[in-house]
Amino acid sequence: MEATSCPQCGSKAVVPIVYGLPGEELIAGSVAGEVELGGCCVGPHDPEFHCRACGNKWRVSAPWHPNRASGPL
Ligand SMILES: [Zn+2]
Repeated sequence: MEATSCPQCGSKAVVPIVYGLPGEELIAGSVAGEVELGGCCVGPHDPEFHCRACGNKWRVSAPWHPNRASGPL
């Protein structure tokens, strides 16, 4: 995985935030401090990374539109 640094403080102590129902591997990673669990409900502007040094949270992907997933009816 490519190393990500915090845009606020420049720290490399950055963990990805994983959304959805975690499996055993993700839970173990969360306990080990390798990932952060964001919960099962993800919004279009929810952060993707968490800096463990300064507590900053941010996302790198463009926000998705909630209505796009449902499609035309
Ligand atoms: Zn930071």
